[in-house]
Amino acid sequence: MKAQVFRGVKQLSYEEIPVPSIADDEVLVQVRVVGLCQSDIKKILYPLYEPPRIFGHETAGTIAAVGSAVQNWQVGQRVVVLHHIPCMHCDYCLNENYSMCDTYKNITTTAGFQPSGGGFAEYVKVPGHIVRNGGLITIPDHITFEQASFVEPTNCCLKAVKKAQIGPGQTVLVTGAGPIGLMFIMLVNYFGGRAIATDLIPSRIDKALSVGAEAAFDARDPELPQKIQVLTRGMGVDVSLLAVPSDKAFFQALDCTRKGGKILFFAEFPDEVEIPINPNILYRREIDLIGSYSSSFRLQALSADIVFNQRIDVDALVSDRYSLKDLAAAVDQAVAPTPETFKILIYPEVTEE
Ligand SMILES: [Zn+2]
Ligand SMILES: [Zn+2]
Repeated sequence: MKAQVFRGVKQLSYEEIPVPSIADDEVLVQVRVVGLCQSDIKKILYPLYEPPRIFGHETAGTIAAVGSAVQNWQVGQRVVVLHHIPCMHCDYCLNENYSMCDTYKNITTTAGFQPSGGGFAEYVKVPGHIVRNGGLITIPDHITFEQASFVEPTNCCLKAVKKAQIGPGQTVLVTGAGPIGLMFIMLVNYFGGRAIATDLIPSRIDKALSVGAEAAFDARDPELPQKIQVLTRGMGVDVSLLAVPSDKAFFQALDCTRKGGKILFFAEFPDEVEIPINPNILYRREIDLIGSYSSSFRLQALSADIVFNQRIDVDALVSDRYSLKDLAAAVDQAVAPTPETFKILIYPEVTEE
């Protein structure tokens, strides 16, 4: 089969490798669509992981083979593949901090080499513990593979929305209107909140409005805090969601968030960035700073419900489709987005039906 093998920083190699062989309790999935995630891009561009590896984790496909001991799954079923599943019994899991669980962090789905997701290949192997513990989700007939590939990123955004306790009537500042920011806008609306978005790119500001933001502004607008005051009866927003790794965006969020409000860090900052802050600002205004990384096992069913029942319009997020062979070009486009670049999806060359 073909796969995009990470051979070193910024080195993707399109290679012929063996189809993974499966054990009795494992499942082989033929990849139909895989989303290109910001985290994949970081793993390709920075020296974070030893090569060789095959990344890609927003995977939707068809079951191509099942081990002899696998129950409840058959060849031909359309599924979303989750690349990590928590152990459910460590201290982190018992406190619903699933993404801190060692079992969760240890990615085991693989197309070959050190397991790293494996979606950037024609076939990916799903290990027994993921098969047994809810890591395969059936795609309903009316949902395309493309739509289904959004279950994982939806979960990550949903987890952040839940951690920030966004609910009916709340106002939320979403900094950055790329694919993640747009999904936040949709989810804020779904939970009855009002989204106000910022971005630097005019087309993204327009896009934010078209997917449901109540207002959207240029992030450089010096009047932004005043404009937000007007929209929030002089209060400021209840929650700011940082969908861009920018200290400027953080300080802007601080200026726009009401007393007693929350600021949630979603985008991963470069490691060398430090943000100096006078703690009394947090103390006197009782601002909560929250981090949210990855997805929540507990929100899996709701994420699938949101995507499969089309409670958010994931089609509106897709801007580009590349074949697996051209993954490097897709990464280039994601790093230097055109005004019309939003979510990029990758299609493997399917050689057999
Ligand atoms: Zn992802
Ligand atoms: Zn655990």
